[in-house]
Amino acid sequence: MQSLTRSLLPCGLLLAALATANAQTVVVHNAKVYTPQAGGIREYAGIVIEHGKVQKLLEAGTAVPAGSGITIVDARGRTILPGLIDAHGHMLGLGQLQLQVDLRGSSSTKEAVDRVRTFAKANPNDRWIIGNGWNQVLWTGKQFPTAADLEGATSGRPAMLSRVDGHAIWVNREALKIAGITRATQDPPGGQIVRDASGEPTGVFVDAASALIEKHVPAPTDQEIERTLSAAMKSVAALGLTGAHDAGIDARQYAAYQSLGKKQQLSIRIYAMLADSEAARATIAKGIQPAQFDDRLQMRSVKAWVDGALGSRGATMIQDYSDEPHHRGLALYTPAQIGELASLTAKHGWQLNIHAIGDAGNRLTLDTFEQRLTAAQRQSLRPRIEHAQVIALEDIPRFAKLNVIASIQPTHATSDMNMAEDRVGPQRIKGAYAWRSLLDAGVRLAGGSDFPVELPNPFFGLHAAVTRQDRDGHPPGGWYGDQKLTRAEALRLFTIDAAYAAFMEQSVGSLEPGKWADFIIIDRDYFKVPESEIDDIGVMETYVAGKKVTK
Ligand SMILES: [Zn+2]
Repeated sequence: MQSLTRSLLPCGLLLAALATANAQTVVVHNAKVYTPQAGGIREYAGIVIEHGKVQKLLEAGTAVPAGSGITIVDARGRTILPGLIDAHGHMLGLGQLQLQVDLRGSSSTKEAVDRVRTFAKANPNDRWIIGNGWNQVLWTGKQFPTAADLEGATSGRPAMLSRVDGHAIWVNREALKIAGITRATQDPPGGQIVRDASGEPTGVFVDAASALIEKHVPAPTDQEIERTLSAAMKSVAALGLTGAHDAGIDARQYAAYQSLGKKQQLSIRIYAMLADSEAARATIAKGIQPAQFDDRLQMRSVKAWVDGALGSRGATMIQDYSDEPHHRGLALYTPAQIGELASLTAKHGWQLNIHAIGDAGNRLTLDTFEQRLTAAQRQSLRPRIEHAQVIALEDIPRFAKLNVIASIQPTHATSDMNMAEDRVGPQRIKGAYAWRSLLDAGVRLAGGSDFPVELPNPFFGLHAAVTRQDRDGHPPGGWYGDQKLTRAEALRLFTIDAAYAAFMEQSVGSLEPGKWADFIIIDRDYFKVPESEIDDIGVMETYVAGKKVTK
């Protein structure tokens, strides 16, 4: 990383001119600029930027404009892409990770507990020990951990540790005590308290049951939320994101974004999805929040979750799970409830983005959009299914027919590949993570990572979409390699199509005259490097509205 920074310096110094030259014309030339356009990817040799927007693109061989008031920047042949957009991430969760125990990649219960113990010692003032990222599927025995495993690790403080998919939590005895959980506590609708053979809660809570514990964790202050969001925005900008769709925020997080916007501290563009809740219904009834702060913040979509995740078997399936007879997941809304929400959002002009992972969850969501939105509303409100992970084959064409965007996360496929087929079996897997089938059916996709469930680096997503392999190159040929996307298709997912999914295709998502000059300079040519190197591409500089946001 350091040698990279050094080799970039000359280019960096020149381009730093952009940071102060917003008011005048800046010409970046001698670049390899790739941008999606109608008809495919176009290549240019330079960009003319004026007042933070693209004024025009320079064809190879055209004279570089010159004159007084024009700053000329030689990009020295480097590759420029439009700023990447993550269509589904969780900014607060990402920022909080930096302040929590990171359990991702732990290979055993013992290793996870050791990390908790070390963190608890290093953070003696934390009232609760909060952590994130464990995955029992990676552990020997693949058993859920228990409260007993955490005995003595937190010097008497409560601990709450989220599973990698955010759909289950693991807590200790102190947390169970604070929440008053006993064998008499009943499973709430849409949730499960994991119990031992005698009916005693073991310390794991799935989906809606997590709330029994979560409600006892002290809420962060407004300042803490702002700091956390700000840190998350800066960290993803360094990875090449100039925009992110924040997939489920509440009124306080939106207020924090507004406060940051007023202070000109929104370093990237945030497309906010308001999480459905009782409190959110009043906001929905007031109508959408138009774009503010030069298109850096808008909230015109509502996020809802009709099911859980595949790993914890919360995703709703039309038939039983292949590895758990008589179990079809946990529905979080009845058809009537989700239908009511769809009607309400459509009435007030909101886009509705529904999390659906199982084939039953996806079908319920498609049925809801079909029944509750008119054809005109399905055009104008651009409804989305978040994840669209396991889809009955006969439902795939319905996405196109109903104008429903499939908001997918390519790295989920490469993270889930060892588990997914266990859950759904060899037949249903054909409609799982089936991006090629969706595209061929005429479905519009948007690409994201679901950070912090996955790492936020968008080049990991591009790599997974193109190779269907994990970052070690497994399996050879890719997992269900017939579902691979081309590099151009993958790039569209994270640029213009993600912009479309946020009603922003007129202002960002490609480098075209009149659009914001959101772009990144990368250390190698995305279209020319071997596929296996796409995930190694490094971002040298990130620009939002012609202004450098990386150091
Ligand atoms: Zn998510």
